[in-house]
Amino acid sequence: MNFSRVTVPTLKEKPADAEIASHELLIRAGMMRNVAAGIYTFLPLGASALAKVENIVREEMNRAGACEIVLPNLHPAEAWRESGRWFQYGQEMMRLTDRQGRAFCLGPTAEELVTLAVAKSAPSYRDLPVNLYQIQTKYRDEIRPRFGLLRCREFRMKDAYSFHASYEDLDATYKRMYEAYVAMAKRCSLDVRVVEAPTGLIGGDVSHEFMVLSGVGEDIVVHCLNCDYGANAELEKHQPGRRFGTDSSYPLEEVHTPGLVSVTEVASFLDSSANNVIKCVLYVAGDELIAAFVPGYRELSEVKLARALGTDNFHPMREDERELFPQVTVGFVGPVGLSGVRALFDEELKGKKGLICGANRLDYHYRGVEEGRDFKAEPLVDIALATDGDRCVVCGSELIVTRGIEIGHIFKLGEKYSKPLNALFTDADGSLKPIVMGTYGIGTSRMLATIVEQHHDEKGIKWPKAIAPVDVEVITLNPDREEQLIAGREIYENMIKAGFSVLLDERELSAGVKFNDADLIGIPVQVIIGRKTSEQRTIDLKVRYTGERFEFPADGIEEKIIKVFNDIC
Ligand SMILES: [Zn+2]
Repeated sequence: MNFSRVTVPTLKEKPADAEIASHELLIRAGMMRNVAAGIYTFLPLGASALAKVENIVREEMNRAGACEIVLPNLHPAEAWRESGRWFQYGQEMMRLTDRQGRAFCLGPTAEELVTLAVAKSAPSYRDLPVNLYQIQTKYRDEIRPRFGLLRCREFRMKDAYSFHASYEDLDATYKRMYEAYVAMAKRCSLDVRVVEAPTGLIGGDVSHEFMVLSGVGEDIVVHCLNCDYGANAELEKHQPGRRFGTDSSYPLEEVHTPGLVSVTEVASFLDSSANNVIKCVLYVAGDELIAAFVPGYRELSEVKLARALGTDNFHPMREDERELFPQVTVGFVGPVGLSGVRALFDEELKGKKGLICGANRLDYHYRGVEEGRDFKAEPLVDIALATDGDRCVVCGSELIVTRGIEIGHIFKLGEKYSKPLNALFTDADGSLKPIVMGTYGIGTSRMLATIVEQHHDEKGIKWPKAIAPVDVEVITLNPDREEQLIAGREIYENMIKAGFSVLLDERELSAGVKFNDADLIGIPVQVIIGRKTSEQRTIDLKVRYTGERFEFPADGIEEKIIKVFNDIC
């Protein structure tokens, strides 16, 4: 491929809306362009890298025994109405109407269509299992698209659906998909953690998320340093790594704490620590006020709170809502003598002594508070998030709380779709039974962005070899000198003949601009044709990932390029 302003339109300046490295670099390196919020065009290099990711995914799916299909993007509403998700999905679904007034959506996922397709063939137990997948463009009406390819309205995804005559058989395929996903991540040079996850809108009994640890991730991941234990913020379990409260009992005492509302302010004023303070977080759900109490040294997990309340329809109390709830003194709310509020208590509060909490009157706190004596922690729920220093519930080793990007999610669905959609199979005894299902998604465009997040430096992208849009870049520094132009073009032709993909930069621009562009684009091997080629018949090679440089004689340079390329991991 010839480097031009059209094929690889690099930019010096960071796009104004780019908040993270992958968004900035994929645009600046001329890999993609924004069309509208959360909608992108992939230019030649971006399309090539995306195809590399998708081919790895395809190969691993085929190896695991799945078959590729192509489902439509335009889904009739009827299928979604039958499963009940036409309404459940809410505003995230892209909906449209044809000229005859029939309702459609642009598919965000395809459980309905694929289940109906399989059901129509009236399978017997002998036809199962079947695992069907597609790599497709998907749609979601994100309220606030952001972070480039990480949160889009149009994105690429591999979605697979498996069909079984028994739950044992589903378990076997689920395990193979789990292993295939780990293999895909590894081949894409992604450091992935598999965590237990809630099933959400897709439904079913068991699910796992494939999380790439990253500071820009929107999810919280808790994982063990020693064993395989990992879970997301909603499901994680932890053993406290420190003591909350004191061993001995103290009398309940009201203390004057003028203007002190934060856990740290109150603790330090009373010569104590967050390890002894009960933290109160206020939420509003409809017209009800909720006071959630957690240990002062922990964060409350809103996803756990949603599970405890059975709804995610709540928000932290706003300033302008205070007058609606005169029964509480915001900043000084505690469980002792609290009334007119729905209170929830984290499990760790049970039986604890020597605590500090708000006294439910302005500028006062209690100390010496004891659960069971001064208040009852009921209902007791798991609403606090793990914190560094906590211990693994499986092996007792140290837990780490970090952020992650979810690239894949697999689910054991069971009969969740086959029952309402009446997708049945004939069992060995002749009876009709609902097909047992699994579903397996991995975001390929999101993987592409995640690879850039994990593999870049201040100069640009450092593509892992397996994903690099092109293998080798030939840079002709002085295309006005005929011997350099010819040398560059010869290497370009020879490398293509040898089975490599090559980008040729013979633009009439300064060496500095071309070097910067080469580092920005991040092709694994740079072949530099310049003054040394004219004067001493040598050529420099540079490995983008490590910055290593080599000088070789121009004659037989192709062999050297191949060796350097093969030596890169
Ligand atoms: Zn562990």
